[in-house]
Amino acid sequence: TGYLLVIVNGFGFLLLCKEKDDREMALLATTDSLTGLANRRAFFERTEAARTLTARMRKPISLMMLDIDHFKALNDRFGHACGDEALRVFADTSRGVLREHDIMGRLGGEEFALALPGTDLAGAMQAAERLREAVERVILPKHGYAMTVSIGVVLIDPIEDINVALARADQALYQAKSGGRNRVESGEPMLKFA
Ligand code: GH3
Ligand code: MG
Ligand code: MG
Repeated sequence: TGYLLVIVNGFGFLLLCKEKDDREMALLATTDSLTGLANRRAFFERTEAARTLTARMRKPISLMMLDIDHFKALNDRFGHACGDEALRVFADTSRGVLREHDIMGRLGGEEFALALPGTDLAGAMQAAERLREAVERVILPKHGYAMTVSIGVVLIDPIEDINVALARADQALYQAKSGGRNRVESGEPMLKFA
C-alpha cells in the first residue's frame, strides 16, 4: 500500500500541475500582455456573453471606444518604451475607475473598448467623463507628459451585432477627435426598422 500511495500522490501532483498550466495558458490566450486587459478576441467573447445576459434580463448595455490623443507624438518624442509605459499607465488608470463587471479590452495599438453591462447611455456618458478626467490627471513622471483620451459612447441595441455597435462608437469617437480631442461624445441611436 505504501508504493500505491506514492503512485497515487504522484498522479495527483501531475494533475494539479496540468490544471495550473491550463489556467495559465487560458490567461495568456485571453490577455493583452502589455496592459493585462482583455485582448481583442476575449473582449468580443465577453461582451457577446454580457449582451446575451443583459438582453435576457431586459437590462441595457453600453459600449465605448477609446483612443489616446496624439499618441504618435509621444512615441516620436520620447520613444517606443515610453509609449508602452503610457499604455500601461492608461490601463491602470482605467481599471481604477471601472466597476467589477465592466469589460475592458485593448483592440490594438492605443485603441481600447469598454463594455458596461447594466448601464444605460446616460450612465455610460458619466463613466466616460470620469475616465476622461482621471486620464487627464495622469502625468508621466519621467517626461512630464500629460495624457488625454477621446471617447465615443453608444447604447448597444439588443439585436445589434457587437461589430456594428463598435462602428457606431467609433463614429462618435471620430466626432470627439474632430471636436478638439480630450472629449466624450455619444453616438446616434441605432436606426429602428418598423
Ligand atoms: P489622435 O489624437 O488622432 O488619435 O492621434 P494619434 O497620434 O494618437 O493617432 P494615430 O492613430 O495616428 O497614431 C497611433 C500611434 O500609436 C501610432 C504608433 O506610433 C503608436 N502605437 C501603436 N501601437 C503601439 C504600441 O503597442 N506601443 C507603442 N509604444 N506605440 C504604439
Ligand atoms: Mg489610433
Ligand atoms: Mg490616438
